[in-house]
Amino acid sequence: MLPAEIVAIGSELLTPYHTDTNSLWLTEQLNAVGIEVKLKTIVGDDEARLEEMLRDAWQRSRVIISTGGLGPTEDDITRKVFAKVLDRPLELHPEILAGIQALFEKRGLVMSPNNERQAMILSGATVLPNSKGTAPGILVSDNNRYVVMLPGPPREMKPMFTEHVLPVLAKLSQGVRICRRTLKVVGLGESAVDSLIAPIYRQYQNPTTTILFNMRAEVNIHFTATAATEFEANQLLDELTAKVSAVLGDNLFAWSDEHLEQVVGRLLLEQKATLAVAESCTGGLLAMRLTDTAGSSAYFQEGFITYTAAAKMTTLGVPVEIIAQDGVVSAAVAEAMALGARTRAGTTFGLGITGIAGPTGATAAQPVGTVFVGLATPTKTIHRALQLPGDRDRIRWLAATAALDLLRRRGLNELL
Ligand code: AMP
Ligand code: MG
Repeated sequence: MLPAEIVAIGSELLTPYHTDTNSLWLTEQLNAVGIEVKLKTIVGDDEARLEEMLRDAWQRSRVIISTGGLGPTEDDITRKVFAKVLDRPLELHPEILAGIQALFEKRGLVMSPNNERQAMILSGATVLPNSKGTAPGILVSDNNRYVVMLPGPPREMKPMFTEHVLPVLAKLSQGVRICRRTLKVVGLGESAVDSLIAPIYRQYQNPTTTILFNMRAEVNIHFTATAATEFEANQLLDELTAKVSAVLGDNLFAWSDEHLEQVVGRLLLEQKATLAVAESCTGGLLAMRLTDTAGSSAYFQEGFITYTAAAKMTTLGVPVEIIAQDGVVSAAVAEAMALGARTRAGTTFGLGITGIAGPTGATAAQPVGTVFVGLATPTKTIHRALQLPGDRDRIRWLAATAALDLLRRRGLNELL
């Protein structure tokens, strides 16, 4: 794959308040035509640092793409510094200046002289028209090496890249295509997943594999395939996906970017089944996740947030004897909550969650993270006992995930 590097220019990108999102979008675009981003740099509006950085980049990379610093103000140094490093003087393009002037007149404004800067272009370079703003982009091609300067604002940068740069770069990479696929696992940790599937993916140089744990408590397996055509790349992905899926079995819940609650929602819809949930320590998080999907009223009927023992009894009909005997955080109560939700709402399934999210409320027998999730189906009522790690937020999130997963594995997948 043809290597490239991206330079994001702008002091604001070095503060905690602005993120360089341009390079993410550009990487996606470049990958799709077989160009690999080997390096990304963020440089402030600092001439000396930018010059150093660009001299190195010019040594090592055949394709350099920068964003930012093309505006009319004193801190917009991109043109000047690139001109110095590439040793190409800046030349005034009267037609660009006339265009900028016309734009100002159209808006009823007087152009300030500093806008002239935007009409200064490196000698021998191609001017990239800006359909959304004043600053044109610049493309320099030199002995099969390419330097592209794009404006910072994403709404100007994106159309300019798509219209004027991508077609040029796509030819360079000789039709290489990169395709990606994501598989998602729940109920197994990152290392457990890796030890199961490493013997398979290690046999492949292409696709390449990365395994990432995310804040949603999913393990995501990413495959990246490179081939001459999209069809061939997908064939490679299909082969590896099939082998890995066989090993992971029911632990795999998605072969796409779908979240667990979306998968559960889709299965409920397909089976024309409905769901009600009863939550204690998650305080409505499970209902929120389920209703994040538009149209979820087709399967999600009702949520009960029963935070006290009394609420569990009066709202869900959890028997007082169970609470007295097993305690409010118990398998029996989780099951009774699931059953109560199912019965009161008249749904196919009911889920119940009770636990200790902390940091207070723990006892010697029940540490923080003790959680029980219950599931009531048309034929059975079951539970799962969990000891969850992390702080209050994480425990609540993991508890909701465990409930969704119990429904997926033991309700939806078994009912079929
Ligand atoms: P500039 O072309 O340097 O005048 O950039 C103008 C504006 O574009 C900045 O204030 C940012 O809002 C935005 N911008 C610049 N660089 C980036 C970047 N790498 N990612 C996202 N936005 C950017
Ligand atoms: Mg800037």
